[in-house]
Amino acid sequence: MSAGKLLSLVVVAVAITVAALHGAEWRVVQHQGRDYVSFENVAEFYQFGEYSHANRTISLRNERRGIRAQAGTSELYINGVRFFTHFPLLEQRDAHLISAFDIGKLVEPVLRPSRIENAQRVETVVLDPGHGGTDIGASNRWGTEKEFALDVAKTAREQLLQAGFKVEMTRTEDVGMSLEERIEFANRFTNAVFVSIHFNAGTGGAGVESYRLAPEGVVSNAANGGHHASATDPLPDGGNAQDNQNIALTAAVHAAVLSRVSSFDRGVRHARFKVLRHIRIPAVLLEAGFLNDPAEGQRIATPQHRQQLAMAIAQGVQNYNAAVNYRTPNTTFAVVRANLPPHTRSITEPLAESRLPDAVAPQPPSISISGGE
Ligand SMILES: [Zn+2]
Repeated sequence: MSAGKLLSLVVVAVAITVAALHGAEWRVVQHQGRDYVSFENVAEFYQFGEYSHANRTISLRNERRGIRAQAGTSELYINGVRFFTHFPLLEQRDAHLISAFDIGKLVEPVLRPSRIENAQRVETVVLDPGHGGTDIGASNRWGTEKEFALDVAKTAREQLLQAGFKVEMTRTEDVGMSLEERIEFANRFTNAVFVSIHFNAGTGGAGVESYRLAPEGVVSNAANGGHHASATDPLPDGGNAQDNQNIALTAAVHAAVLSRVSSFDRGVRHARFKVLRHIRIPAVLLEAGFLNDPAEGQRIATPQHRQQLAMAIAQGVQNYNAAVNYRTPNTTFAVVRANLPPHTRSITEPLAESRLPDAVAPQPPSISISGGE
């Protein structure tokens, strides 16, 4: 890099740091007793240089991140990955609003996973192939969910072991296991994460969806027609102490799967599946495709596709671990730039992208939004 280019980067870094110190506070507005902020405010706070809205489409961009949303819906895309919000996005006069709860429980932990408090370094990965024994789960003409999930888990275990993690499996063969047994098993481990692997069936269509435990005060949004929809609890209670870790892990695994297999993105969702509800470590339940969709079901039946899914799960866990444990070294610009781990900016960015140093990242916010209660 030329001296001139380096100098201009330093100038930019200083300018951004100054902007971060002087601006970007949250301006909260109330709607029906709930706190909201505008997307313009979100753009300012997270330093998205470009903010636009045309009709009901909202777009926030900077050189390496983007948020796209549609007013009136309950979903948004962060770096191209689909997330379901906890409350609908509002359009009010000329402002487009997102709930403060969604900033605190979704946008913040996904955009800045390194700031999640009390996120533990992952030493152990608990893999949970769904179903087993007489409980075959979903099935198609080529096989059953219990077999496919076990196969994916075994390959993921190899990948994770190679990456240096300890791996525990709720089952390693075709045996039945209650949800209580799976929960009890997972809760033996600390510095661990839990990945439950399932395949879908039903009238829902095709594609991959990932679930985390719905935070307290939020209604589940398990997809209608999915194989496991009946397991949801519609009551708006029962979160756990791991909300931020849950969404960061779920986003990381979901994004890794989508970047490796070309499946339809059914989104990062929130529900109260029993297996998520009583687990004390960060947890994700992956629905890795629909067995009864003719094309997707046939793909899942191939060992190559299941291997890709397994590699994606392992990559997602590694991305999560790198992202939540990243700490900006208190050192020079050049050293920071040279030592960047892959996921400093956002948990859903593809690994291949080059990174800007965290030295130009915003200073810690002067006002924090923590769930909007
Ligand atoms: Zn299942």
